[in-house]
Amino acid sequence: MVIDTAFRRTKIIFTLGPATESDEMLEKLIRAGADIVRLNMAHAKHDWTRGVIRRIRAVSARVERDVAIMMDIKGPEIRTGDLEAPIELKAGEIFDFTVRPGMSEGRGGGDEEVRSVGVNYQDLAKDIKVGDTVLVDNGLLRLEVLEKDEARIRCRVLIPGELKSRRHINLPGVKVNLPSFTEKDRGDATVGLEEGIDFLALSFVREAKDIELLRAFLAEKKSKVRIIAKIEDQSAITNLNEIVAACDGLMVARGDLGIECPFEELPVIQRRAVRACLAQGRPVIVATHMLESMISQPVPTRAEITDVANAVFELADCVMLSGETTIGKYPLECVQMLDVIARRIEREVDESWKEPAVFTGERMKVLHSAVILANELPRSKLVTFTRHGFMAQGLALLRPSHAPILAFTPSPEVFRQLRLLRAVEPFLMPLASDPNDTIENALGVLRRAGRIVVGDRVVVATDILAQDRLVDSVQLRTVR
Ligand code: PGA
Ligand code: MN
Repeated sequence: MVIDTAFRRTKIIFTLGPATESDEMLEKLIRAGADIVRLNMAHAKHDWTRGVIRRIRAVSARVERDVAIMMDIKGPEIRTGDLEAPIELKAGEIFDFTVRPGMSEGRGGGDEEVRSVGVNYQDLAKDIKVGDTVLVDNGLLRLEVLEKDEARIRCRVLIPGELKSRRHINLPGVKVNLPSFTEKDRGDATVGLEEGIDFLALSFVREAKDIELLRAFLAEKKSKVRIIAKIEDQSAITNLNEIVAACDGLMVARGDLGIECPFEELPVIQRRAVRACLAQGRPVIVATHMLESMISQPVPTRAEITDVANAVFELADCVMLSGETTIGKYPLECVQMLDVIARRIEREVDESWKEPAVFTGERMKVLHSAVILANELPRSKLVTFTRHGFMAQGLALLRPSHAPILAFTPSPEVFRQLRLLRAVEPFLMPLASDPNDTIENALGVLRRAGRIVVGDRVVVATDILAQDRLVDSVQLRTVR
């Protein structure tokens, strides 16, 4: 089968930061083919967020390529407090994490010798046990808990290093009793909804209930924003299937997963998570460290090239950049690199091709027949019309072997949400009242855009009016 190389199937998400927030860089990355911009709310103030969302929209409009915006809210994240100056922790040193600021003096007995930092989580002393591991700043610092009381946790430094202000803390295997959707998240999300974001990514999802809480909040706000569940710790792995079922998309957040779980489990977890999404019909994002060395160098390591390729071979919907585009020196080169690698590997996927899960429900069966037909025909293209995105998502999750999914929607919101889906190329177009006119209009758009040429076989999956009822249909047309 000949793969349609005119566009890339695997979608690219980049995280906005100091390296990429100027109009000039935004324009370059959008032109280079970025599909979704991620805003990390760990470092964002509301004024900045509003301003930057408006600028992303303005730049998109100017270059006539509308990208989607994903707001990443931090959920139950534990951080150290502010420090006047960084502390150099020495191996073997005794160090305190204090949870009740006013009480730590009450102990007496030479405690003033012990250096300490506050933590934003009051119940930490309750949840943690003697012998547990505390990791700080992406696992760069490692400490072991020696003893605790209600005011502080006393640790020994195992892996030394510099402790800076407001660093992220990981507690592998500890069940943290923090709300999944915090007050800060609520504030951030409200700003996002007001500014018209497309996706909300919820960090540290531990069970399906966490997603249901966020969904209730969105329903209250009458929002159609899609929820991306970030799996980042061991409870998410334990509850993987129920989380996949509850979310609109999953992110394999390898940064925190690689700290919270034994590192050798990471590839196994990634593969299982991607397959769980394919089996249940959810889009999936592989995230973090994909081109980490390109933060400071213009070319990736061979291992990174292979890691990106692996995500494409696994049939993930999206690959994601974080530090590479927030603080990196080569953000544009990173997007170009993902683009080149993904396009090359997509030409290979036929060999590892397996029949996707077949879903229950009549509509899915009809869509499946469309995909079977497209898979059989060389140079075929799938065309669909979708008001809410479901037809396009149904086709995408069946992973057509080589045909692109050219999806027409009248809704700008749905258009942007389609950016998440593997092999879907969205088009914005009003639907005519007669379905046949709609199809003719779409074929006209595709012909003018050079996306179909005479002789191409087009498999159209759409609902048509039969007498007074809408029925799902599959049509095979040859472009003349
Ligand atoms: P973060 O999430 O960048 O918000 O930490 C991604 C990850 O942990 O991999
Ligand atoms: Mn994370």
